[in-house]
Amino acid sequence: MTTFFENYLGLLDRAFEAHGASSDLKEQLKTPKHIHEATKSVVMDDGTERDFHMYRVQFNDARGPFKGGIRFHPQTDLEEVKALAALMAIKCAVLNIPFGGAKGGITVDPRGLSDGEQKRLAEAYIDAMTPHIGPDKDIPAPDVQTNEQIMAWMLTQYERNVGMHAPAVITGKPLALGGSLGRSSATSLGGVFTLEAYLAETNQDMGGMTVAIQGFGNAGSYAAKLLAERGMCITAVADSSAALIYDQGVDVEALIAWKKDHKPLRAFAAEHPEYTVMPADSILYRDVDVFIPAALENAITKHNAAQVRARIILELANGPLTLEADDILEKMGVVVLPDVLANAGGVTVSYFEWVQGRTGDRWDLQTVEEKLHQKMQDAYDACAKIAKERGVRFRTATFMLALSRLETAMKLRGL
Ligand code: NAD
Repeated sequence: MTTFFENYLGLLDRAFEAHGASSDLKEQLKTPKHIHEATKSVVMDDGTERDFHMYRVQFNDARGPFKGGIRFHPQTDLEEVKALAALMAIKCAVLNIPFGGAKGGITVDPRGLSDGEQKRLAEAYIDAMTPHIGPDKDIPAPDVQTNEQIMAWMLTQYERNVGMHAPAVITGKPLALGGSLGRSSATSLGGVFTLEAYLAETNQDMGGMTVAIQGFGNAGSYAAKLLAERGMCITAVADSSAALIYDQGVDVEALIAWKKDHKPLRAFAAEHPEYTVMPADSILYRDVDVFIPAALENAITKHNAAQVRARIILELANGPLTLEADDILEKMGVVVLPDVLANAGGVTVSYFEWVQGRTGDRWDLQTVEEKLHQKMQDAYDACAKIAKERGVRFRTATFMLALSRLETAMKLRGL
């Protein structure tokens, strides 16, 4: 199977073929500008020391400071972080926010660590990366298995290291430390706005449509809540333990409350016999109107794409489809609303948080959500126009839009 990064290079090739931009630009978008790696020792609760490998990949900063989340996952490696950093550069250009692209990660399963161990690990990461990050240089945020508490520890360690307050160095912080209202639900709300824009353009009504969601963490659980509030019927959800099926519509609030205590969905079904329990991967094959991958990359590949039965895929995860899967689904007539557009609400509200951090201003929730709506609608309209005029699928259109914006910035800088 092609790696996640090779998949990105394939997407880039397709976009360049359709867009026809300069080969200099292509070369620059094939390679990260900086790769920072470190191995740091962390003291465990029992007094022993354990080594952890950590990364920060800074892909492109032609349009502004590097920007991207930090992931804690046992499978995280340099290839994954490179691909995620590249997608961030594309995403920020699609949304027209003044950031470049970066990503960070630590190869670790945080579920095996106590809070104290996670805190010391977060601080060790910041000790390794302090020279490379900063409010005008590179601005981290949460991603898979990191959250606002981890951002609070990271912010504090950065400020300790540089000897001053710097709230704009990290986004996705708790509200009490300068976080933004609306940040935790932003990725999902941006996805909902993207879906609404597509349905409005194609004269479809979301009321009564059925939805299956893979992943019930930050992105997946808020998507379930927001879509159920809009009258969609969430018939299946999955985390890594199991898929739960309930054709009348799952009880989203009860599931969110359950997951707050870090309990697996499989255990929820043991107390609720009306739910059918299936293997986690069976979520991919549910017969629904909309399938939402909100877990990890490469969920749909050439081996399982033909079994997908949804009409629309809303990509809240980064890179959930391989290149081959994208082709198979295109032939099947499945509409894919791609990651660099559909999940860009998170980085957009991160940008709003960064602006608030720099100005000391505080925006109310309505302001944040209205501004997010406008940004998502503008990005959707620009991509839909390219898709229509150039006869390309949405994903290629998003890349073409990003390439033209990156090319302008790089030309002006003489890069
Ligand atoms: P998270 O750690 O909060 O949740 C991940 C969820 O995926 C968990 O419920 C986990 O059990 C589930 N999962 C893992 N493997 C699975 C499998 N094989 N089948 C079913 N479920 C599985 O992470 P998150 O922040 O919600 O991120 C999810 C995806 O969304 C990632 O690809 C991330 O890069 C992307 N994303 C997140 C944000 C954000 O703001 N959090 C922004 C943009 C993109």
